Amino acid sequence: MADDSPKEACGVFGVRDLQQPASHLTYLGLYALQHRGQESAGIAVSDGTKILVDKDMGLVSTIFDEHRLRALPGGLAIGHTRYATTGASAWVNAQPVSRHAGDLFFALGHNGNLVNTVALARELPPGAELGSDSDVVAGLLAAERTDLVTALTTVLPRLEGAYSFVAMDETRLIGARDPHGFRPLFLGQLDTGGWVLASETPALDVVGARVVREIDPGELVVIDDEGVRTLQFAVPRPRALCSFEFVYIARPDGRIAGVGVHAARRRMGMALARQAPVDADLVMPIPDSSIPGAQGYAAASGIEYGDGLIKNRYIGRTFIAPTQALRESAVRIKFNPIADMVAGRRLIVVEDSIVRATTLRGTMGMLRDAGAAEIHLRVLSPPYRWSCFYGLDTGDRSSLIAARMSVDEIRDHLGADSLEYLEIGAMTEAISPSPDGLCTACLTGDYPVPIPGLHA
Ligand code: SF4
Repeated sequence: MADDSPKEACGVFGVRDLQQPASHLTYLGLYALQHRGQESAGIAVSDGTKILVDKDMGLVSTIFDEHRLRALPGGLAIGHTRYATTGASAWVNAQPVSRHAGDLFFALGHNGNLVNTVALARELPPGAELGSDSDVVAGLLAAERTDLVTALTTVLPRLEGAYSFVAMDETRLIGARDPHGFRPLFLGQLDTGGWVLASETPALDVVGARVVREIDPGELVVIDDEGVRTLQFAVPRPRALCSFEFVYIARPDGRIAGVGVHAARRRMGMALARQAPVDADLVMPIPDSSIPGAQGYAAASGIEYGDGLIKNRYIGRTFIAPTQALRESAVRIKFNPIADMVAGRRLIVVEDSIVRATTLRGTMGMLRDAGAAEIHLRVLSPPYRWSCFYGLDTGDRSSLIAARMSVDEIRDHLGADSLEYLEIGAMTEAISPSPDGLCTACLTGDYPVPIPGLHA
């Protein structure tokens, strides 16, 4: 996906291992989850008596160094990487959030987005901090003025939308997942006997934890000296795991719901080759998330696979360029064509999804300028026509190109010779043998949890 991609959800991590510094393990876990949010990151830690929180704007590796991690002692920690979904991009909205209310002191990290934040905020006592939806949840928990687990069992059933939480008080690590299971959350165990929670399995891999299982929808796990205790705080509702975790968000080296992400993307590419074949010389991905899909397309079509674009891996935030020339340069900073690969050749360009298409249009122009004879664009998911309200920031619906234009218009706008999107049934079949368990609202407009205002 190009830089008009949705801003990823968030990454959460937690560890309780009384034999190792939890802040260092959390740093490694967050490093593995950096792709889920690059605006801010934070770690909360407890030595058993008090909680310390350190968070800042920026990447995990730029915020935390050895000095800063050493200042966070203890064997219990949670961490968070964030991209803003509800609430502005600002330090005050960085996570974990923490609250001190009477004897209750806790920290909380949230992946997902609630859809009833406004209604929940009305339940808060006057003067409560209001920023993101996560702040509102923290305020509701603090208002309970009771034990954190008791507060969670009271507050969580009132939340509507998507949430995978990690939370902690001075001694316990807690995880919870919404009754639809929109966002993933995994439980792992270290060789030392310590326990880990993480948004994705690669974060367990990097700290040497074995994947035990996923947290179930509607489940709360409490980890303390006695081990792992589980509570079902809500009856599971129809499963609605985000299909875009498989298309774009999650790392390809992970597994979700028992399905390997890389293999799912490869199957999408194979299905696309069967659905939309075309005579061509080269199958090439828009790097990086489209690579497995392009490999699948090439394998199923028998057409050579290769790189036609090189991606600069050190791109941070792109700036708003004041002139057309600078805007073109800004696209070229991210991608540059390999002229020898594309000149005079008929290309099948594989992209995982098209959201706004601003960068993709520039990229297609670069391939033409480099001498591509034909460009056939193939997309590993159906047209992205509806906004996500469950934690993937795709902006207002009017910014989605497929909400404004037909497929033919998009093809012409991008300057492609042909454009085909993978059909929804083929996409869900490539992900899972039970497609009923997936959210596809951004592709179909069929929202598993009604959106106030949209469904008023
Ligand atoms: Fe994922 Fe789309 Fe559903 Fe959002 S609307 S949770 S991006 S499938």
